[in-house]
Amino acid sequence: MSLPSSSHLTRSFLLSLLFTSIAASASAFSDDEEVQIHHFQQYLRIRTAHPDPDYSAAASFLLSLAHSIGLQTLTLEFSPNKPLLLLTWPGSEPSLPSILLNSHIDSVPAEPDKWVHPPFSATRDPHTGRIYARGAQDDKCLAIQYLEAIRSLKRSGFSPLRSVHISLVPDEEIGGADGAEKFARSEEFRKLNVGLVLDEGQASPTDEFRIFYADRSPWRLFVKATGSPGHGSRMYDGTAIEKLMDCAEAIARFRDSQFDMVKAGISPASEVISINPVYMKAGTPSPSGFVMNVQPSEAEMGFDLRLPPTVDPEQLKERINNEWVPSFKNMSYKLLQKGPIKDCNGKFLITLTNESNPWWPVFEKAVISSGKKLAKPEILSSTTDARFMREMGIPTFGFSPMANTPILLHDHNEGWLRPAQSWASKEEFSGEGGMSIESVRTAIARSCAKVGSWIGKFSTVAVYGYNTCEPE
Ligand SMILES: [Zn+2]
Repeated sequence: MSLPSSSHLTRSFLLSLLFTSIAASASAFSDDEEVQIHHFQQYLRIRTAHPDPDYSAAASFLLSLAHSIGLQTLTLEFSPNKPLLLLTWPGSEPSLPSILLNSHIDSVPAEPDKWVHPPFSATRDPHTGRIYARGAQDDKCLAIQYLEAIRSLKRSGFSPLRSVHISLVPDEEIGGADGAEKFARSEEFRKLNVGLVLDEGQASPTDEFRIFYADRSPWRLFVKATGSPGHGSRMYDGTAIEKLMDCAEAIARFRDSQFDMVKAGISPASEVISINPVYMKAGTPSPSGFVMNVQPSEAEMGFDLRLPPTVDPEQLKERINNEWVPSFKNMSYKLLQKGPIKDCNGKFLITLTNESNPWWPVFEKAVISSGKKLAKPEILSSTTDARFMREMGIPTFGFSPMANTPILLHDHNEGWLRPAQSWASKEEFSGEGGMSIESVRTAIARSCAKVGSWIGKFSTVAVYGYNTCEPE
């Protein structure tokens, strides 16, 4: 994107501003911060994307970083070749409930030809300072923040009252069954006596950090219709595809009602029920495609459903039975729930963000007292490992401290940007050849330092015995 040619003066002004800010920002990092950024790049260069994540290279890198900080380390393996690292900074009163900082090692695949820089090069653009890499936001930044924050806290002489653990887990992106799920149900986890978990959240395009207190739960709906087969030329009632189309229309009306609330700004996308068709299966195959003059006797469709934790699944089932898939139409359905919806105390998987949760005011005050802003707590649209911790009855916040950062997880050119306080507006930033898409003021190093002070506050506060439950 270029500026209009009539605004030559403006262009010169902006370019000079740009170069001034590059020069200013180049010296904005201390030597320690440069080392932190280097560690971040090293981690990003390890190919931990599915379908073949290099867990062993990641584990040896992370363990060496942990040893250089002086943390205790334990490698657990709930499934062969899928290491789960548990790093510990012991507190002076280890009987207190501990803090667990969780982050997953794996990431989703990338399509290299769609990227400006190769997705595992962790290239640091000399002009923008932006680091391009798959996993930069989701969520390798967290592991490095946790580790580097502890390094600087230790260096400053701080020692925590309660123990702080870091868990670096495999397989989150493919459901977590061999990672966080087994870990949360293990004897090793129980022994940690965890009082609070911080897990991943999402970047925030504004200057307010986002905090997530629940995930939406994923469901799968399979609808099957059967009807009389017949010649393609005949119009008659009760064909399989006609029934399925009625069902799809009813679902589409419900989908609209939910989506309208989002479009009107009444509800955030994560607080409505989403439902999207993901496959359709019907027709009689022929060597050249499908037989065109036969109406088939069976048709099937699949839907991805996401329920906020505040929705009772029983109400959804009623709607399916009465409106979407009425049994008198000779249709059937299967509704599959993926992952837990209630914790071991029978409560929905929600971490309270009010005074009744003793960790909440501590967290809120820690963020505000460090000069940052916190957005209204949200439900995460998707699903993370946090659900397995919440299932154990443990308060878990999703929190990835990236403010003023575009949300790029799972996207092409996932990255993180350097501070650019001088780039006051989106227009100014995109003025230089469309280098980037947003004005960005957040730096990894700064975030590391801030998280450091938050960990410090969490570690010294005395909160006793939050209600947790035993694994099955
Ligand atoms: Zn993630």
